[in-house]
Amino acid sequence: MMNRIHDEMQGMTDRGAVADYIPELAQVSPAHFAMSVCTADGQSFHVGEAGVPFSIQSISKVFTLALALGRLGDQLWSRVGREPSGLAFNSMVQLEHERGIPRNPFINAGAIVVTDAILAGHAPREVLGEVLRFVRQAAGDDDIHINHRVAKSEQATGHRNMALAHFLRAHGNLRNAPDLTCGVYFHQCAIEMTTRQLAQAGRFLMGGLPAARLLSPARVRRINALMMTCGHYDGSGDFAYRVGLPGKSGVGGGILVIAPGRAAIAVWSPGLDAQGNSRLGTLAVERLAQAAGWSVFG
Ligand code: GLN
Repeated sequence: MMNRIHDEMQGMTDRGAVADYIPELAQVSPAHFAMSVCTADGQSFHVGEAGVPFSIQSISKVFTLALALGRLGDQLWSRVGREPSGLAFNSMVQLEHERGIPRNPFINAGAIVVTDAILAGHAPREVLGEVLRFVRQAAGDDDIHINHRVAKSEQATGHRNMALAHFLRAHGNLRNAPDLTCGVYFHQCAIEMTTRQLAQAGRFLMGGLPAARLLSPARVRRINALMMTCGHYDGSGDFAYRVGLPGKSGVGGGILVIAPGRAAIAVWSPGLDAQGNSRLGTLAVERLAQAAGWSVFG
């Protein structure tokens, strides 16, 4: 099935547009494609460039949320909501309207709050070390690193995220200095992984595997619920309709998708649709979920 989908994707001409608001990401060719699947019985399957690292960007928000919930528990929900936003991932308007409490932990404002929460009282380097340790442990692979050029590139141009952070701070919902929290946020987004590593790292969200228990089963279910309702920003409803599985996208063109109890799927194709989600990545997992009969909706 994966080979067939890979062949179908090779023939696609409408691949979407590579994110260009982060200069380093604008250099990436839209021609890349990779997909990896780790199944609950311990097998893994790969097609395309499954060994080529890409910028995971917003997919990192899943890992920082898992860390924050593990560390702070439900206290986190006093600072960030759990509703889909229906607006772009970097929307300012909603944050103003809702007085500095971001709608959910996957839009940028919400992820900045989550990062701020795990930063509390620690040096940025320590926190980034902790995020990397978590991701490496989840993936069972130590060869996962931050691309500092990508982080610097976003740091130099990420005025919108800085504006969101200042706005959060003005509302008393940011404990650390905006440039400190954003610095950590830009670096977590600049983590690079291959689809092979990302699918492996997603295993803890599949549930059911005692070895993959980085988080309690109840928290795993809740993170999946948030991925389903908020993981693709204002494209979340469409992703749920087409794919029927929880997923989290990033502007690097990656998507992590979970078929609970069955599989963790990672896909990468850098061209994005209007909502900033991988165009071919979505199509490929839509076809895979359909072919495999995987859906949380029966
Ligand atoms: N680092 C990116 C940003 O903040 C992440 C956004 C994304 O992947 N959707 O704009």
